[in-house]
Amino acid sequence: MPTQSFARTDRGRMRRHNEDAFLARPEVGLYAVADGMGGHAAGEVASAIAVETVAALADDAGIDADAAADAIRRANDAIRDAAAQDPDRAGMGTTATVLVLHGEAYAVAHVGDSRAYLMRGDTLRQVTVDHTWVQEQVEMGVLSPMEARRHPWSSVLTRALGTEADVDVDVIEGSAQPGDLFLLCSDGLTAVLTDDDLADILGAPTSLETRGQALIDAANAGGGPDNITLVLVQVDD
Ligand code: CA
Repeated sequence: MPTQSFARTDRGRMRRHNEDAFLARPEVGLYAVADGMGGHAAGEVASAIAVETVAALADDAGIDADAAADAIRRANDAIRDAAAQDPDRAGMGTTATVLVLHGEAYAVAHVGDSRAYLMRGDTLRQVTVDHTWVQEQVEMGVLSPMEARRHPWSSVLTRALGTEADVDVDVIEGSAQPGDLFLLCSDGLTAVLTDDDLADILGAPTSLETRGQALIDAANAGGGPDNITLVLVQVDD
């Protein structure tokens, strides 16, 4: 399916570094966002390793969900190897959310609290589930989604690349339709904007770039507490 895409990262207003990374390879239908963490600039090393490992898939024939999940597991190994060789990088990690569009199918492979959304018509749906402590509390009915957003532990991850030798990768597959709009983003966007905010901006009848920049501007207007990264992919009508 023919698509248009737009990707951008922004440091935000509070952080001195940008530890996010993204990938947009529309010619092979491969997209990703990674949000790194770790001191001494190690976070950007981890997110870069994740994105580079996923990007290597572009050389393969027939990228699918299994290939994307395998790439995330290889990235986990590569990050752990790099951390083991440099004490400054010990404990570095990253999220990874990968979108593959092939034919009329989409696949998302995912670890961490970056997100994939699908806007179909007027309805925005979060495709991924956050691997966070607060998300687990929401699922158990202990916290409401709004309480989770404001909780001091809202950024505590239960799953990330770099932390364990074996990483469990979520895979979500579905059928893409003409007009579908996918959003991949780091939590610097969703910590500030609600799903309703996202839907309002994504539903505007403007270019992908205008909507993408409007999302970044809105996150910065809300304080810009973290790096903001997004990838927008629109399937042509
Ligand atoms: Ca972040």
